[in-house]
Amino acid sequence: MNRILLAVALSVTTLAARAQIAPGELDAAAAALQPRVIAWRRDFHQHPELANRETRTSARVAEHLRGLGLEVRTGMAYTGVVAVLKGGRPGPAILLRADMDALPVTEHTDVPFRSTATGEFRGRTVGVMHACGHDAHTAILMGAAEVLTGMRERLPGTVLFVFQPAEEGAPEGERGGAPLMLDEGLLGIAQPEAAFALHVGSSLNTGQVSLRPGPLMAGSDFFRIVVTGRQTHGSRPWSGVDPIVAAAQIVNSLQAIVSRQIDLTKAPAVVTVGAINGGVRHNIIPDSLEMLGTIRTFSESAREDVIARLGRIAESVAAANGATAKLEMMPAPNPVLENDPALTERAAATLRRVLGGDAVRTSSLLTVAEDFAHITRRVPSVYWWVGVTPPGRDPATVPDNHSDHFYVDEDGIAVGLRSLLHVAVDYLSTRAN
Ligand SMILES: [Zn+2]
Ligand SMILES: [Zn+2]
Repeated sequence: MNRILLAVALSVTTLAARAQIAPGELDAAAAALQPRVIAWRRDFHQHPELANRETRTSARVAEHLRGLGLEVRTGMAYTGVVAVLKGGRPGPAILLRADMDALPVTEHTDVPFRSTATGEFRGRTVGVMHACGHDAHTAILMGAAEVLTGMRERLPGTVLFVFQPAEEGAPEGERGGAPLMLDEGLLGIAQPEAAFALHVGSSLNTGQVSLRPGPLMAGSDFFRIVVTGRQTHGSRPWSGVDPIVAAAQIVNSLQAIVSRQIDLTKAPAVVTVGAINGGVRHNIIPDSLEMLGTIRTFSESAREDVIARLGRIAESVAAANGATAKLEMMPAPNPVLENDPALTERAAATLRRVLGGDAVRTSSLLTVAEDFAHITRRVPSVYWWVGVTPPGRDPATVPDNHSDHFYVDEDGIAVGLRSLLHVAVDYLSTRAN
């Protein structure tokens, strides 16, 4: 009798062991798939598409996912593609996300698969390039979908693969990206309890990754200030009101927000005026001009505070000049990207185990923004950076993301795929136990 029980217990244990996905299996599957992941990435690189126009890219993605036998939904937020993989064992649902859009940049690298594509941006024909590495993200997530589908019987839970358009921002007059996918019911597809995404970056060498708990990337807002005076002859400024002098004083006064008015020991903030458009001729003082800029903050309270100060300074400095200023906040701001602290600790432990302790860096606060932040607000999330600067080259001096010389070391793509697979499977396995 005891012997039978023992035999039953042993076979149950063996089955349970067989049911687990071993870390070595993930690495082997990722390595076997690497040449195809690279081929997909090069294809996307050679055929980049601007935000909300990722039709070819999303068709390739959908074809791949359907080929794996997944339930695929297309056309979300213009060109978004979502696939659901239901594992053979019970467990929670998680969301893995990649972005697919390229940038209005004319490529000047010398890779054989460089882009010569063009597109339309703000009414002009522009070069288009995957200058932010979203080609790599798309290929990595296609690879993750294939590897995990190959182990679906043993996968404890559900994986929602999200291929998102327009991370860099939708064309003027359109909505797009993560917030639009959320509005179109993204989270209703599988109710994920955790979400994961990664970004390749020039600021780390291949083999390294970085992340931090809590705020990782800034909230970003774009603003427009219209300064209105009264047009007059450039030789008789007293007969009008000069909006150019008022704007110059506004730009100077805005510097005091960060240097004098924000508690910098809590978190940094940035206020940048990036464009001033006004005037047509040397001897005409124009009626009005516009200033365009961005602010970056790391909390909702800091954001509201900076916006209020911006408006107050612009209006009162203009008034002191006899002009008026009107602040307008542009649509579609990105909130702060917050990594869930407990989830980040778990993901970091996985990354240290898989990549080695030295490979996992603690990121500083980053003043760039990322629209995955909208997802981190709704679902506990982890977002990490994956280095793609080749060993031996100094990340501080290589061309940055968004440069026309941005370069992705393809070995870093393998690191990205492995990191995503292990973080996802570790999460599902520990939650299922
Ligand atoms: Zn970018
Ligand atoms: Zn990007």
